[in-house]
Amino acid sequence: MSGEIIEALERMELGPDAGAAGGPWRHWRLSRDEEGLAWLVADCADAVVNTLSGAVLEELDQALARIEQDAPKGVVLRSAKPAGFFAGADVSEFVGRRDAGEVEARLRRAHAVVDRLERLAAPTVAVIHGHALGGGLELALACRYRIAVGDAELGFPEIRLGLHPGLGGVARTLARVEPLQAMELMLKGKSARARKAKALGLVDAVTEERHVRAAVSAAVAGGLRASKADLKTRIQERVLSAAPARRLAADRMRAAADKQAPHEHYPAPYALIDLWEKHGDDLAALRRAEPASFARLLVTDTAQNLIGVFLLHEKLKRLTRTEGAARPVRRLHVVGAGTMGGDIAAWAAWRGLRTTLADPEPRAIAAAVKRAAELYPKLGRDMAKTRDALDRLIPDLKGLGAGQADLVIEAVPEKLDLKRRIYAEIEPRLRPHAVLATNTSSIPLEDLRAGLQRPDRLVGVHFFNPVSRMELVELVGDGGADGEALAVARGFLGVIGRLPAPVTSAPGFLVNRALTPYMLEALLLMQEGHAKETIDAAAERFGMPMGPVALADQVGLDVCIAVADSLRERLDRPLLEVPESARARVRAGALGRKSGRGLYVWKDGEPVKAKDFPAPPPEMVDRLILPMIDACLECLRKGVAPDEDVVDAAMVFGAGFAPFRGGPLRYARAAGPEQLRARLEALAEREGERFRPDPGWACLG
Ligand code: NAD
Repeated sequence: MSGEIIEALERMELGPDAGAAGGPWRHWRLSRDEEGLAWLVADCADAVVNTLSGAVLEELDQALARIEQDAPKGVVLRSAKPAGFFAGADVSEFVGRRDAGEVEARLRRAHAVVDRLERLAAPTVAVIHGHALGGGLELALACRYRIAVGDAELGFPEIRLGLHPGLGGVARTLARVEPLQAMELMLKGKSARARKAKALGLVDAVTEERHVRAAVSAAVAGGLRASKADLKTRIQERVLSAAPARRLAADRMRAAADKQAPHEHYPAPYALIDLWEKHGDDLAALRRAEPASFARLLVTDTAQNLIGVFLLHEKLKRLTRTEGAARPVRRLHVVGAGTMGGDIAAWAAWRGLRTTLADPEPRAIAAAVKRAAELYPKLGRDMAKTRDALDRLIPDLKGLGAGQADLVIEAVPEKLDLKRRIYAEIEPRLRPHAVLATNTSSIPLEDLRAGLQRPDRLVGVHFFNPVSRMELVELVGDGGADGEALAVARGFLGVIGRLPAPVTSAPGFLVNRALTPYMLEALLLMQEGHAKETIDAAAERFGMPMGPVALADQVGLDVCIAVADSLRERLDRPLLEVPESARARVRAGALGRKSGRGLYVWKDGEPVKAKDFPAPPPEMVDRLILPMIDACLECLRKGVAPDEDVVDAAMVFGAGFAPFRGGPLRYARAAGPEQLRARLEALAEREGERFRPDPGWACLG
């Protein structure tokens, strides 16, 4: 968001007297300028972003009725929120919908409002800054022109919620964008920046805030050429208007969608492809069919669970808003430039923090900087951003940065004495307000706290590998950290775009505690003679993005074994032994993905899997998945995580638990806790005590 836009919004340059003229509405303001243009400004009450709710649409309908009477020369639609135009639909209104007929009826009423906007006699111009996502973009597409400001971002994230656009957006996008590109935009759920959006045909002009008024005047006067399909697009459209060509293209899209996610787990892409295949040559018919298709998707378990996961994400994100309760972290110091420390430092520097990185091994620092230099161009194509991030990542052989940092993260090897020695050396040099954090996976915080002068300034921030891809961070409190130190850590995680899951200092915290039995069971299944591909397929069929054998390789067999051994020592229930064959692999240097060989051979970052392997027997999924759910319930019972939501969120964002199932506990509730518990009891009789259900199942009522 440029300062210029914020200034314009602060001065309320949203049409003259936009604030004063007001209107009788909570979410919209309407005013008229000297040129005779009506400025319709969205400013949703009690919210930092605009979202399309039933109430917002109802008021829009009233405002449109007023505009119809006033007969302005033109209508400008924009947002008063610095964050952007519209963030999308108000998804809280989607929660718990199970009646497709009712959803469709509501949607048809919403269509009537958007169609009314489209039918206004005067030219309509949507001025878009920041985000125009989902329903927001659908609203903008009903205007005659769209002007994007600065680096506005437009897109349809619906597919990630198990949906497709439903407010006429599918038909209106297909009317403006070449069909294959339009479908890709909606199927991938990715957004396009202003210039790309213009190239696609989603917007007609891109301008800077200071030129918005001139651009609006030009549009209304007919001087802005509506984005027009080029020759190639027109030929493409012509070809795809024939049903057989569309069928071929649709089949290709289905095959691509199937590679991403199977139909039975994620029906939305297939519904969208069906809509286009059937009605791609008659967009009016497509628009009529859109609400029913959307409604059928919304009431599925998949959409309801994915919406639940979206709300969990928002809930954890809210924890990072410390609202002045904590001093912001501006300088970060990381001790230990290995796998984790190097990547934490690189990520923080990418996200804008000046970060010093200390390690007695110059080679470790050099390797970390090299990894950062390889990572940054993959995160963004802007070379200046890469250069700036590398400038912020400062090698610090002598560890001098500790004395200037607001937050110090220790990520040295998992040895209590070493960590304590480092704290004793660093603590006297820390600034009075600084917070000390450890990335330990298994050492109890109370043991690390012993000997500190200010034990209440130590918190745990348990990142996952790879740091740049894993959004979750377990924020470990053990009652010994002061509230402000924890708030500093939460605020820091917000700045670097990570989600904190508050957990206590229990063995393995939550995620490793739950994942370890899953991976150990997989190793045992291998020892029993099952093909590793079979074992991974069992978990993937359940919906895990990666099976446990591949996951063990991805994390590193050495790391998994270390976590399992430490857990076994500290847990009060049986945990499988690590098979000797796995230990032998580690001794032979076959550590997994990082060494190119582990349980699988790895090539180009992917495990090489046999094509033919036996199908998994039915109880294999239970042997893998139920102990993971059981461990989650044990954590809930012991208060390791404060509530079911945190357990589900941590497992989805930290362990990749099948998102369309909404998280392990939500899944257990839906599948029937009593039934799952009984299956665990049966497994305990057959396979051993490790399957005996935890008393935590009682938490599910
Ligand atoms: P690593 O062995 O890859 O890196 C440790 C680094 O610390 C090395 O570069 C080493 O030279 C450096 N070091 C040793 N002594 C030091 C000292 N006195 N001062 C500064 N640096 C020193 O280890 P890692 O895998 O990055 O693990 C670090 C911590 O993160 C451990 O506590 C581990 O349990 C935890 N962790 C690891 C993972 C993982 O997947 N590897 C995941 C989560 C947490």
